[in-house]
Amino acid sequence: MAEFDRRRKRVCRFCEDKIDTIPYLNDRLLRRFTNERGKIVPRRISGTCAFHQRRLTNAIKRARHLAILPFASEVYR
Ligand SMILES: [Zn+2]
Repeated sequence: MAEFDRRRKRVCRFCEDKIDTIPYLNDRLLRRFTNERGKIVPRRISGTCAFHQRRLTNAIKRARHLAILPFASEVYR
């Protein structure tokens, strides 16, 4: 238990804020969960829980469809 407490608990950002439905129109929020190439950041890195990761993925896909987010941004070289 002490071991567990010592580490920073990786709480999913949406659980923390008690967000149930990911606002897919909030591109600034969604962009935080995509890397510079427009890919969705994996759960292991973002710390998002399974439930919200699934919601997030759908939100990002919806946002892409609405041209809020790019499908794949230009690769910066
Ligand atoms: Zn969550």
